[in-house]
Amino acid sequence: MEPVNIPIEAKKRRIGVLTSGGDAPGMNGAVRAVVRMAIHSGCEAYAVYEGYEGLVNGGNMIRQVHWEDVRGWLSRGGTLIGSARCMTFRERAGRLRAAKNMVLRGIDALVVCGGDGSLTGADVFRAEWPGLLEELIKSGELTAHQVEPYKQLNIVGLVGSIDNDMSGTDATIGCYSSLTRICDAIDDVFDTAFSHQRGFVVEVMGRHCGWLALMSAISTGADWLFIPEMPPKDGWEDEMCNVITKVGTITCPKSPIMKCANPLCNQNRKERGKRRTIVIVAEGAQDRQLNKISSSTIKDILTQRLGLDTRTTVLGHTQRGGAACAYDRWLSTLQGVEAVRAVLEMNAQSPSPVITIRENKIMRTPLMDAVKETQDVTQKIHDKDFAAAMTLRDAEFKEYYHAYLNTATPEHPKMHLPENKRMRIAIVHVGAPAGGMNPATRAAVAYCLTRGHTPVAIHNGFTGLCRHHADKPISSVREVKWLESDAWVNEGGSDIGTNRSLPSEDMETTAKCFELYKFDALFVVGGFEAFTAVSELRRAREKYNSLKIPMVVLPATISNNVPGTEYSLGSDTCLNTLIDFCDAIRQSASSSRRRVFVIETQGGKSGYIATTAGLAVGAVAVYIPEEGIDIKMLSRDIDFLRDNFIRDKGANRAGKIILRNESASNTYTTQVIADMIKEEAKGKFESRAAVPGHFQQGGKPSPMDRVRALRMAIRCMQHLENFAGMDRETIAADPLSSSVIGVKGSQVLFSPMGGADGLEETETDWKRRRPKSEFWLELQDVVNTLSGRSASRTQE
Ligand code: ATP
Repeated sequence: MEPVNIPIEAKKRRIGVLTSGGDAPGMNGAVRAVVRMAIHSGCEAYAVYEGYEGLVNGGNMIRQVHWEDVRGWLSRGGTLIGSARCMTFRERAGRLRAAKNMVLRGIDALVVCGGDGSLTGADVFRAEWPGLLEELIKSGELTAHQVEPYKQLNIVGLVGSIDNDMSGTDATIGCYSSLTRICDAIDDVFDTAFSHQRGFVVEVMGRHCGWLALMSAISTGADWLFIPEMPPKDGWEDEMCNVITKVGTITCPKSPIMKCANPLCNQNRKERGKRRTIVIVAEGAQDRQLNKISSSTIKDILTQRLGLDTRTTVLGHTQRGGAACAYDRWLSTLQGVEAVRAVLEMNAQSPSPVITIRENKIMRTPLMDAVKETQDVTQKIHDKDFAAAMTLRDAEFKEYYHAYLNTATPEHPKMHLPENKRMRIAIVHVGAPAGGMNPATRAAVAYCLTRGHTPVAIHNGFTGLCRHHADKPISSVREVKWLESDAWVNEGGSDIGTNRSLPSEDMETTAKCFELYKFDALFVVGGFEAFTAVSELRRAREKYNSLKIPMVVLPATISNNVPGTEYSLGSDTCLNTLIDFCDAIRQSASSSRRRVFVIETQGGKSGYIATTAGLAVGAVAVYIPEEGIDIKMLSRDIDFLRDNFIRDKGANRAGKIILRNESASNTYTTQVIADMIKEEAKGKFESRAAVPGHFQQGGKPSPMDRVRALRMAIRCMQHLENFAGMDRETIAADPLSSSVIGVKGSQVLFSPMGGADGLEETETDWKRRRPKSEFWLELQDVVNTLSGRSASRTQE
């Protein structure tokens, strides 16, 4: 065996990164983050090409990666370092070769981004590592001296998979991008289904996991759903036809217009009004005997039994393709950063972690626990223990499933509450429109109808409420019917109308109207104004008895500046719109000269959107009101840009992006900054200002905003329901009778508005209209680290 020269005492730690299994959008973002964070932390980064294949083959398939090499990767689909399913690595002999290659390269830490198979492989490799090294010494392939510095192998997992099938994490890198692709396709199918009153059976990916199917069913208001974890009851064919006939449009073959004798189509379409039928089926769907339920079987049933003109659409690999959505870009970035941190903190005894996310919190979970639970789900399905499979999948999945069932067929409710528990629940939108307002209202209406409550929409906010004459009810306050709200499932903006008016503009009339319309509870969807409105109503309870009802705010604003939550509906839609804008504008510079774009974001006095968009597009710098802008900062950033363009060897000529929140400075406006950069660049590069303005409020809500709208709206309804039948004084005395639902770290919870511990007192910066402490501020450091801006600052 030839002796090989290797760095016995490598000066810098070497961290390898590979992508394995099926590709997923966001994998490139993860690799970029690992590479740059590794370099930032004083390590060297190595890319292993073609997954484990590269590790086994070594040579040119393991290459050092430099800072500039991963420029522009955030917006690229698939995985640029390649992925493969490597049979050789499944064998010990393959892993032995892999171990040798790693030692030869001086790599003793590996970040693996893939599905449960890839992560299982990683853990097997780590467990065998000491034995593999021993064998390499014994066979003479390596000397003890060579092996000595690499006795400890650290492995960290990142879950990259479109299926979202890994236990222990709410989301995997790629799943929301895939969901976005599916929802775009189904939204398009809507139009043709509506036009021809057709039925569509849409097959989506998911062999063992129904997450994509379930979430797309929620996001598009599908009439029926098939997922592998919860097969339909025997006799499902009849039930499906029954439900679809009642909620959908069935054109009777004998008599499409008139009523006919067939009990399944005894209502004509004018009565029913719904012109489209959508059934979603996961590719792994099966019945309780584990027989496959295919899209063509479902189509045949709908066609033959109901005479419904039905088409099937199998979405196939389009679900994997394309650029990552905003969520996958920032998730992969933050998780990549966390993976490197984990590597640096691990010792020989640390079990391999997998980086997960629960609600809004990036966490570390023992890798093998997550893999084992994931494999248990598959086993439980195989054993026909479907209840256990659902429980093992994760709590959020189960909650979404029940939320879907609770709202899918409100026309034939089975879950009405007793009369004395039923409420008249008023729904109002306050503030600027945000993606998710309509789906949240639809979900609230569906839940109300299912439980026997009466949903009452207040049109056009508190001005709409107060527009009454001589105590006569008017049309801007009216009960909502299901057919009206069903169509809101994928609509942007606010169908019932929203504005910034507050109850304090006429509290007397507002309170009178609460009495007039007999509201038992109030559901307010909106941003900081919604929060302010409920605060005002709560304070006015002392004077007005009619306001002593439970009230809850569901935050919905692109600014994400509502106290009590780290996430507001609409912020994800806005982010997606912004990254599309940035990608397009950046691309426009690729064929022209070197260019910096200074892009102005909305967000009021909160820099959340600017910062998160900065993470998702890889901005050079982000200017936010919390930090302000000064001349020194601008001067340093212009120097940084100059350096950046010098180091950029032309491989990636696309433009660079600076994001500036609209309120970051009164003096240094977007145009002024762009002009200063242009002046100082002295012809080496140029700059442009761009203001996407109201474009940021987005068109259709993103799937994430749609699914979260459903889940949170239902939680809000259940929260309000808790107060049913209580007397008014008891309600007013309960701090949670005026509250905000929110994501806080890894939890979703209700926070009281009033009282000594309430949000109004403890968490609200009323002057700046934002929470006193903003959880996302530390993300500024990540943006600066990954752009190199923070290193440029410390070098001075
Ligand atoms: P996806 O979710 O897209 O299927 P995955 O990571 O689960 O991704 P797999 O094909 O199961 O995809 O695994 C990818 C690769 O990981 C395999 O080709 C193999 O190289 C390695 N691998 C999987 N399981 C093991 C194992 N038990 N031992 C060693 N290596 C494994």
